[in-house]
Amino acid sequence: MSAGVTANGANTPSSDLDLLAPKFRAAVDAAMAECNANGIDAIVYEAYRSPELQALYFQRGRTITPPTTPVTNAPTNLYSWHGYGLAVDVISKAHEWDAPDSWFLSVAEVFRKHGCRWGGEWTKPDLPHFQWGLCRPSPSDRARELFEAGGLKAVWDAVGAT
Ligand SMILES: [Zn+2]
Repeated sequence: MSAGVTANGANTPSSDLDLLAPKFRAAVDAAMAECNANGIDAIVYEAYRSPELQALYFQRGRTITPPTTPVTNAPTNLYSWHGYGLAVDVISKAHEWDAPDSWFLSVAEVFRKHGCRWGGEWTKPDLPHFQWGLCRPSPSDRARELFEAGGLKAVWDAVGAT
C-alpha cells in the first residue's frame, strides 16, 4: 500500500514499511511481532510521510479549519524523521489513539529492546511515535543537507540504518 506517496499528491498516511530505512524496518518488524505475540494489539498507523502529506498537515489549523490550532510546526517533511523513513506511529487496533498511557508504555518497552526511541519521553510527549534510536529527537540542518546532496540513502548511512 503506497497510497500516501503517490506522485500526484497524497492525503492519506502511508503505513508501508517497505519505505523505511532497512535496519529501522527490521527493528519495527521485530518489535511489532513481539508486541502482537504478547497480546498487545499494536498496528502501524503511519510510517514514511511524503512532502505532499506534510504540506497538508501543516495547513491544518492554519488555512484548513477545523482544527482551530496547528497540528504540526514542521513546514516540510524534512523536519520530522517520518520524512526520512526513520519513524513510525503505532496505535491500538481496538482503541486507536485512545489506548491508556500504560498501553503505550508496554509498546515502548518492546520497541526500546529493538533499538528504537520513544516520543513519549519528550518534553511534549508524542505517545504513538517511535523512531530509529541513533537519530537525535529531530532532524538537524545536517540531515537536510545530507538529503539534498545524496537523498535518503545518505541520511540512512549517517545514522547507521542502511
Ligand atoms: Zn510520529
